[in-house]
Order: sequence, then C-alpha cells, then structure tokens
Amino acid sequence: MRFGTTAVHAGQSPDPTTGAIMTPLFCSSTYVQEYPAVVKDGYDYSRGKNPTRTALESNLAALEGARHGVAFASGLAAIHAVATAAVSPGDRILCGNDLYGGTLRLFRRLFEPQGIEISVIDTSNLSAVEEALKQAPVSLVWLETPTNPLLRITDLAAVCKLAHEAGARVACDNTFATPYLQNPLALGCDFAVHSATKYLGGHSDVISGAIMLNDDALAEKLHFVQMAVGAVPGPMDCFLVLRGIKTLHIRMERHCANAKRVAEYLAGHARVSKVHYPGLASHAGHEVAARQMSDFGGMISFVLKGSVEDGMKFTTKTKLFALAESLGGVESLIEHPPSMTHASIPAEERRASGLDDGLIRLSVGIEDIDDLIQDLEQAFAQV
Ligand SMILES: *Cc1c(COP(=O)(O)O)cnc(C)c1O
Repeated sequence: MRFGTTAVHAGQSPDPTTGAIMTPLFCSSTYVQEYPAVVKDGYDYSRGKNPTRTALESNLAALEGARHGVAFASGLAAIHAVATAAVSPGDRILCGNDLYGGTLRLFRRLFEPQGIEISVIDTSNLSAVEEALKQAPVSLVWLETPTNPLLRITDLAAVCKLAHEAGARVACDNTFATPYLQNPLALGCDFAVHSATKYLGGHSDVISGAIMLNDDALAEKLHFVQMAVGAVPGPMDCFLVLRGIKTLHIRMERHCANAKRVAEYLAGHARVSKVHYPGLASHAGHEVAARQMSDFGGMISFVLKGSVEDGMKFTTKTKLFALAESLGGVESLIEHPPSMTHASIPAEERRASGLDDGLIRLSVGIEDIDDLIQDLEQAFAQV
C-alpha cells in the first residue's frame, strides 16, 4: 500500500461484531478471562494493551514502514521511554543544539541527576558530530530535523553512519516533518519519535506521542516501559489520532504549499531581515532537506526588524494566525519564541544561538493562502 492508502486503512478493519467501519472506542479497563491467566490476544488490563490503542499502534508502524509502533500519552512520555530504554547511568546522550525545549528540560532535569551525561552540539555540522563521538562513548544521539524554531537541517543518513560506527543508537524526533515527508528509519535511525499532538492528530484536540522502530528487543523494552510506567493514551486519544492520520497526506500537501507561499512572501518583505524555511534555496540546509524530505513542511520562522517588543506586538496584530504555542493543526498559529517557548534561555545565550529578538514562528495552517497573506500584510501595516 502507498502512503495515502496506509494512512486511511492500516491497522483498521470493520468491527467483526457490528461491521462498524470506524475503530470502536474500547473503554474497558479490564477483560474477562476464560481461565486464570488465559486471556484473549494478550488483553488483560488496558495499561498493558487496549484494542483501540492496538489499532493506532499498527497504523503508526505502517506510516513509518516500521515493524513496531508504540503509543504514549504525550510526545514527552514517548521521549522519556526511548531514553529509559536506551540509556543507563554512566552513559552519554549527544543531542542537537536547537531541540524542543521540553526534551532538553527532561534530559537535563531528570536524566542528568541520574548520572547520565548530556552533551549539546550543532548536529548540522558533521565534523562536530564526528569530534563529539570521538571524545567519549555515546549511547544515544538525539536529533530533530527540521529543528524548532530555526528549521535547521541535520543530514540523517550521514549522522547515523557516524553514530553507528561509534556504537551509538540514533533517535530522530520526526514531529515537524511527519512520516509523509521524511522517514528516519529508512535513513538509518533506530527510533522515529513523534509528538502526535501536532501534525499526526492535526486538529489541536489531543495530546499524544509515538515511537516507531524495527528492533524487536527494543520494542519489547518500550512496551515494558508503557506497562510499567503507565503513561499510555486513553481510547479517546487513540481514536482522535487515528482519525487525524486518515487525512495526514492531504493536510501535509496543503501545509507545504501554503508555507512555501508564505516563505516567499516574507523573503520579499522590506520589514523582514531573515526567513528560516528549508524550502528556500537560500536556506543553509536546503540541499540536504531536498534529499531527505519529499517536501519542506508547514513551519516557518522569520525575523521582524526591530526590538523584542516589536516582535511581541506583531503576534497580537494577526487575526487568522492565532497567538498560541504548539503547531501542526489545521489552523494557523503565530508565536514569539524569545518571550514564549524559548523565554527560559538567557538573552545573550539566546541571541548567540541565532534566536534574534524579532524572531517569529509560524505554524502555517490549511486555510486559503490568499487570506493568510492578507492577514500578515495587515499585521505588518500596524507595527
Ligand atoms: C510538542 C513537541 C514535543 C512534545 O510533545 P507533547 O505531545 O507536547 O508532549 C516534542 N518534540 C517536538 C518537536 C514537539 O514539537
């Protein structure tokens, strides 16, 4: 099956008792056993296994062309599970320098105190990756590409080759690209990780996370973490993500087409000093992105000429782009990373890492493109 067919059908078949075409919500915590410890298809208690979740997990696996899909209650619960399964005290995690803030907070505040070393480098620079792998053993390399909010690109195949030669596993947070645009496992990664809250769910109505992988032993470990910790999605969460995925390919096409038009519009605007979008030929990662992604996604950031206050003010002047954190829903969102998602980084450090005062991040939705451009135009006129 090709992607669109997989998205609509994988893991789901009409309910055998009623013919219901949509996967039912199995709101049952427990399952009747035929004889003590004789259970049907492994269903004994829903923390361990639930039929709505099973349908989602099969669908997720198929999306990334993986042997296994493991669903969690949030993207961060999924990230926590990967690190728990792949890293032990005394080990080192090597991660990219423009990671989702919550990921770095999790590694620094929960894993570092347990004796796990966290090294942060620019993974778009292959010689920096090679150097860091030589300095000390690494168990897990944690990547995002494109990154948040600067849309930096890491060459997944090249980093995987270096990491595997050094005996490290590689996880790629594929939230921004989605399996429709990029397949980390096919490029050599050991784990593809998603915040399903974003494009997979796609409608800003659920918090959920997922891991896709091929290794049977690691998958078993992840299912153990799921059952032992219990950060599992409920049946309604699974239903919403499954329903969202049915239109993933259609939505992504529109997200990409709209974002391309917005990026081109911003690149030609006198009030804008920089546009970060991997689809622009001027973007430093454009060539690698064109090689490893089938299109460039719906996320853009740009620098409005002016102060922190000007950047903040701009985000209050758009009418369609709603001022909010998160991304990947059908509706367009706008935010100001220096004062919102990345406010915890000291100003000096923030600027040094490329996060300018006037940096604005857009999650370009699937609305009519002319309305979106008009909305930005009227906002520029007010600042
Ligand atoms: C939102 C996000 C996360 C965290 O996911 P939650 O579902 O909010 O826990 C992780 N990585 C990226 C890239 C994200 O955008």
